[in-house]
Amino acid sequence: MKLTITNPANGNTITELQTNTKEDVHAKLNILRQGQKEWFKKPLKERLDCIVKFGALIKQNSETLAVILTDETGKPIQQSRNEINGAHNRIEHLSKYAEQWLADEVLVDFGATHEKIVYEPLGVIANISAWNFPYNVGYNVFLYALVAGNAVMYKPSEYAALTGKQFEKYLHLAGVPENVFQCVIGDGSLGQALLEAHFDGYFFTGSYATGKHIAKSVAHKLVPVQLELGGKDPLFVADDVLDVKQAAINAAEGAFYNNGQSCCAVERIYVSDSIYDAFVNAFVEEVASYKIGNPMHDSTFVGPLTRGQQIEFLENQVNDAISKGAVLKLGGQALDGDGNYYEPTVLVDCNHDMNVMVDESFGPIIGIQRVGSDQEAITLMKDTEYGLTAAVFSSNEQRAMDILQDMNTGTVYWNCCDRVSPNVPWSGRKNSGLGSTLSSQGIRAFVQPKAYHLRVL
Ligand code: NAD
Repeated sequence: MKLTITNPANGNTITELQTNTKEDVHAKLNILRQGQKEWFKKPLKERLDCIVKFGALIKQNSETLAVILTDETGKPIQQSRNEINGAHNRIEHLSKYAEQWLADEVLVDFGATHEKIVYEPLGVIANISAWNFPYNVGYNVFLYALVAGNAVMYKPSEYAALTGKQFEKYLHLAGVPENVFQCVIGDGSLGQALLEAHFDGYFFTGSYATGKHIAKSVAHKLVPVQLELGGKDPLFVADDVLDVKQAAINAAEGAFYNNGQSCCAVERIYVSDSIYDAFVNAFVEEVASYKIGNPMHDSTFVGPLTRGQQIEFLENQVNDAISKGAVLKLGGQALDGDGNYYEPTVLVDCNHDMNVMVDESFGPIIGIQRVGSDQEAITLMKDTEYGLTAAVFSSNEQRAMDILQDMNTGTVYWNCCDRVSPNVPWSGRKNSGLGSTLSSQGIRAFVQPKAYHLRVL
């Protein structure tokens, strides 16, 4: 079977890729199992050298790779460049810390019985990935897994398959053996084949619905399962912000960067009553200034949506909100002509009866709600099934901390939003996921501890 790769900016077919079969998955898994044993025997330094070389190759070819990413996902070219360059910080971080995090831990080296922990790789892991930030979310899993001594079967999203093939090409060129990293091409049905095969761990990035299905399907295998899922990330703008206009500019970027197709995009905004009108005016002015158009142009900030079917979902959210009393301040329509274009959309006077304030939008649309107190903001921010991130803009650190400590999310932000760093864990709570990538926790996710009790006779 063939997978047709379509350019979301114009609907043209870019190419067709041969898809892999269930039989391919089993055959490749056997090959990876052999390769993993040799890969793990290599000194950590050699594995790291391959990853560093991979990073250098990606840098050398970054412009070509950015064009591929923009072609298949519609991500504006400048944002493709930013993603490719920005993801490199994972490699720098691994180079600095992997040795420390993977080192044996000797707890007792005196007396009759010595005790230590050795971190062993899981084996061959399945990495089923998303399309919205394939470099970031891909690197978070497969680079960390490889450094820890695992072999990886990588299934990119069907919407970022060309980029997935590039990862495979450059990892092999960088010295990662073919029997240690394999990319398989296909849609959800191929993902399903991975669930049915016997991997030693499942690492997934994508929607809550698929994540829940994966967790259920592989539960009986009793292997590690890690899920990086969606969010409905709130931002509260308190009345003591020093500069309302700047707060609006930052909030808008958090909501509309990559067309809102970011797991940690700002998805709903609460604003203190006394600055509400000023904030809304500045926010609308900022969003109205965004250049929407051909994602290959350097100046474009809003390109097409990657998936055409998302347009109907956004239209439903807008109609639902308006029917329940929201005011449409900007946008609210798909653009005529070719491509999956949807206008950046701002809805104000929203409330939690509206889907736009509770269901992940994953597109260029935002709901803004007025709040009368910090307590009201806290209650609304916590009124969600998700738990990825939460943000507060305020000039008072203690005020922000009082709110952020109350959030049941893996990440909290003060005066910033929509950001990921390799230094700290990336994790979701509740419907936003299970387990952590990045930081020391992110590399420990790919190893299992073995306890040694050594009696010296
Ligand atoms: P998706 O769940 O539709 O697809 C993700 C992957 O799962 C794809 O590779 C797909 O082919 C595969 N898949 C689909 N059905 C499957 C099945 N039955 N068995 C196995 N695999 C299957 O998600 P998406 O549209 O690619 O990504 C968007 C979602 O991902 C959003 O909800 C977003 O918030 C989330 N996301 C989360 C993070 C994070 O770090 N928390 C990062 C990026 C994206």
